[in-house]
Amino acid sequence: MDEKYLVVNAGSSSLKFTLYAMPSEKEIVNGSVEKIGKSDSYYTLKFNGKKIEKLQLIDDHTTAVKCMLNILLQNEFIKEIEEIKGVGNRILHGGEFYKESVVIDDNVMNNLNSLIKLGPTHIPAQIAGIMAIKKVLPNIDQVAVFDTTFHKTIPKENYLYAVPYSWYEENNVRKYGFHGISHEYITNIMKKRFNNENINLIICHVGSGVSLSCIKNGKSYDTSMGLTPLDGVIMGTRSGSIDNSIISYISNERNLSIEEIDNILNKKSGLLGIAGQNDFRDLEQQAGFGDERSKLAIKMLENSIIKFIAQYYFELEGKIDAIVFTAGIGENASSLREDIVMSLSNVMNVKLNKDINDNIARFKKYQSGVITTEDSAFEILVIPTNEEFMILKDTYNILKTKNKVQFQKKLKI
Ligand code: ADP
Repeated sequence: MDEKYLVVNAGSSSLKFTLYAMPSEKEIVNGSVEKIGKSDSYYTLKFNGKKIEKLQLIDDHTTAVKCMLNILLQNEFIKEIEEIKGVGNRILHGGEFYKESVVIDDNVMNNLNSLIKLGPTHIPAQIAGIMAIKKVLPNIDQVAVFDTTFHKTIPKENYLYAVPYSWYEENNVRKYGFHGISHEYITNIMKKRFNNENINLIICHVGSGVSLSCIKNGKSYDTSMGLTPLDGVIMGTRSGSIDNSIISYISNERNLSIEEIDNILNKKSGLLGIAGQNDFRDLEQQAGFGDERSKLAIKMLENSIIKFIAQYYFELEGKIDAIVFTAGIGENASSLREDIVMSLSNVMNVKLNKDINDNIARFKKYQSGVITTEDSAFEILVIPTNEEFMILKDTYNILKTKNKVQFQKKLKI
């Protein structure tokens, strides 16, 4: 018999959720509560190809959770709240505390609070989401699934920064890596596709946030994001890697505090900083109208991705099974994929299959596929990511094990 599990992804002003049936792995419905705390807040629900969108005043995360449960009840996706057997929460940062997903208790909450300084834009909202669910459903088991844990296999020579070693020992300064839930999902799909647990991959997660990962022998070996998600490739609003001296220089030049600069590097840089737009669709449109800054921003993003592919190609000693594009831009922007593959084909033995590449996007004929020709040395593919599904699987497995142990204890086995 199937049981219902909820996956929650809380942001500062939104709460995204998906209800699944397990063990059949069926997605029942997904939705979101948007613009929490604003006067034009609303919710959406998507199921069986249908979409409902309704304005509703939602003051805070607790009201958002109540709204989510009400609409699940009203639309009869659940008959009573007790039908939900567990909740999986996406959490940005596990720091040095967590190398696996974990059932949330008071100790976990304390640790999450201490990680706010490493994820000040994400973790407070995620804590608010957990607390809101706890308030409304005090007896339900909640699991934390971290964006960092997949990268636990990165070797020390790749995760350390060349700063005083005491910064690592005493302040936990190291590369953690992010988007791990997505990189793990893609790695698992590729292992099945190649029937090879020891696969070598370069995964390009190109969405609002962008990170590349180098998968060696089926495990994360290197990744572009660092202590926080600010590092690495250029992103929608984040700068990616820059010369650190810029911070003290610009602080003096423009009389800005470190906090102000940190905010600008996270929220007003990247594509937005260069072209005034961070949505890739808008950028493509503006570039099409001849806007030079938009063209420049796209070129900078592409070059930034190519540099990491080149680095990882060498880290894998050229022994590469595939390159994968995923997430909003990676799955949809065929022009970006074309530019990157054309550039790689000058150096690597890969050729673009333009016809297939042009036909892959969420709204086109195909949503996934191989975009290189058959005589290429390795495949370059597009695969849609599914972070919710990864969170679901971890949540289900952890709670099943927990309940089995409790049951055995009861029976004194
Ligand atoms: P996140 O989950 O971090 O919000 P996504 O993975 O959804 O990010 O990616 C969002 C990005 O994907 C945006 O820059 C958006 O413009 C881009 N995107 C979505 N659809 C398309 C499309 N059809 N063509 C080009 N870019 C797209």
